[in-house]
Amino acid sequence: MKTKVSFFDLAVQFKSIEDEIKSAMDDVFQTQQFILGSKVKVLEETIAQYCRTRYAIGVASGSDALLLSLMALGIGTGDEVLLPPFTFFATAGSVSRLGAIPVFVDIDQETFNIDPSKIEEKITSRTKAIIPVHLFGQCADMDPLLKIAKKKKLFIIEDAAQALGAEYKPKPGSDGRRAGQIGDLGCFSFYPTKNLGAFGDGGMVVTDNLDLAEKVRLLRVHGSQPKYFHKRIGINSRLDTIQAAILLVKFKHLEKWTIERQKKAERYQLLFQDLLSSVNGLKLPTIQYQNRHIFHQYVIRVPERDRLKKYLTEEGVGTDIYYPVPLHLQECYSFLKYHRGDLPNSEKASEEVLALPIYPELTEGQQWAVVDRIKAFYKRRAQGA
Ligand SMILES: *Cc1c(COP(=O)(O)O)cnc(C)c1O
Repeated sequence: MKTKVSFFDLAVQFKSIEDEIKSAMDDVFQTQQFILGSKVKVLEETIAQYCRTRYAIGVASGSDALLLSLMALGIGTGDEVLLPPFTFFATAGSVSRLGAIPVFVDIDQETFNIDPSKIEEKITSRTKAIIPVHLFGQCADMDPLLKIAKKKKLFIIEDAAQALGAEYKPKPGSDGRRAGQIGDLGCFSFYPTKNLGAFGDGGMVVTDNLDLAEKVRLLRVHGSQPKYFHKRIGINSRLDTIQAAILLVKFKHLEKWTIERQKKAERYQLLFQDLLSSVNGLKLPTIQYQNRHIFHQYVIRVPERDRLKKYLTEEGVGTDIYYPVPLHLQECYSFLKYHRGDLPNSEKASEEVLALPIYPELTEGQQWAVVDRIKAFYKRRAQGA
């Protein structure tokens, strides 16, 4: 019988920590405190320390982390915010929710992250901020961005939803800077399939700036301080106590899980070696500047992506496409009047990317099966099937 490989499998991970999770949840049930509270505070301190920032603020989702960061910076009607179109919708949606305008900047072909050399041409007198996305677990090229932001007086909000624990550009003898600590604010998501996933929605904003931290903290509780006295118009975006309790348990395993993901990525690299020379246009993920890539996703590129995906599905291998339509070509953004061809690298990536299974519990046999089926696909093609 052929080995089935699902695209992800949260159940295996749950089995390995079931007792710890249940007892942490039981603690919450006993106290009957469900909103924010001491567990959220401990998680905030834990994440701040992990990201090497002074402050962290727990919020209801990664999307809200972006929204609240933009609100804290005072971004609103008519302001322009630069961001890549090859990302999850929330990166742009948060900007639009505030009446600001997402201005899309094409990506680098190798890393899938925003191309710093294409930013300056998009800056106008209305530009207020840049949101680089650390896609798939690798940091965007932040040094040139920081330089542009300083020169043009722009804020940087890192969309680090996929990059908790990733590091940018280590210098000899020292670690790189952590995702989230590089810009003015960093945003994380605890969506269940993220590297640190809750049992529902959750998110976090990190920053070194006390003023911004206080603003986010205020805005997540409808701007009220003290209760029922509203300083600013905020939203309801609090992190649940129960999610914090679960995340604190899972956090203890995060480094180990990250190392496992990195090992799977290395193994794919080895297993794909002979295909690389025989298949035209096949590309594996690349790591820039010896960054610490945490492999939230392992994304290959192939020109015949849709046929390969279909074949793998029939053969019992789960894959997914992040992302099939770049944001500038989404129906809801037709009013922005972008056209196919405007941002060619993002458009091409949307046609060629295929995410393969990568999770800490993925076995060597499963990885072997994934690559073996891909080899079988190309063998059949070579034979004209
Ligand atoms: C997951 C994700 C978000 C949003 O996070 P939610 O917690 O699902 O709201 C934002 N940006 C990127 C790049 C993401 O992957």
